[in-house]
Amino acid sequence: MNTESRLPSQTDINVSEASAPHAGQIRITEIFLSLQGESRTVGYPTVFVRLTGCPLRCGYCDTRYAFQGGEWMTIESILEKVAAYNTHHITVTGGEPLAQRECGGLLTRLCDTGYEVSLETSGALDVSTVDVRVVKVMDLKTPGSLEEAKNCWDNLQHLTTQDQIKFVLCDRADYDWAKQKIEQHNLLGCCDVLFSPSFEQLQPVTLADWIIEDRLLVRFQVQLHKVLWGDEQGR
Ligand code: SF4
Repeated sequence: MNTESRLPSQTDINVSEASAPHAGQIRITEIFLSLQGESRTVGYPTVFVRLTGCPLRCGYCDTRYAFQGGEWMTIESILEKVAAYNTHHITVTGGEPLAQRECGGLLTRLCDTGYEVSLETSGALDVSTVDVRVVKVMDLKTPGSLEEAKNCWDNLQHLTTQDQIKFVLCDRADYDWAKQKIEQHNLLGCCDVLFSPSFEQLQPVTLADWIIEDRLLVRFQVQLHKVLWGDEQGR
């Protein structure tokens, strides 16, 4: 049980994507094959399904192009496109995928098809109804993200040992904040905790040194896709 007050979640945030005019459809920014750049499945060929729209505005966001636009697609047509890539790992991402109400149905259909499915989510929206077969990779937004107030702390009770919590760290203050949250919420007893340096804001080696110095039981990660391809869209 966490001790922080409940903060805005799905029903509290004005999410334009939740009122989609196309019943049963999902607005998609892109579907592409790449290598998983983060999390426990880093390095596996993975199809990414990027949903359009996000109610947050993190200062370091690298997918602003997904805030608007996109193409309305049925779940069937998304499944068809994913199948054409003939791979096992699927990541549903955004934007904030849970901001579209049909996202849950898509996740379940992907699991039913036999894929290993992960969901990348900001931690600002309710994850309690996400299919239990889906691996949730959930951010906790630090002060440096400028969106700390959007964290929905109630989500922590819906994570299991298969899930992962990710902190994107902008500076030492974020690092100390994350350490404090880990202790306060006993996060290491909950699931894997990932620490990532914010791209071009915090030097990876600096973060690595801090973690080693503290013998912190978190997993350091860099965004593999950015090491390989830089900030190129669709990678
Ligand atoms: S939650 Fe993700 S997609 Fe939304 S603004 Fe933050 S970094 Fe960008």
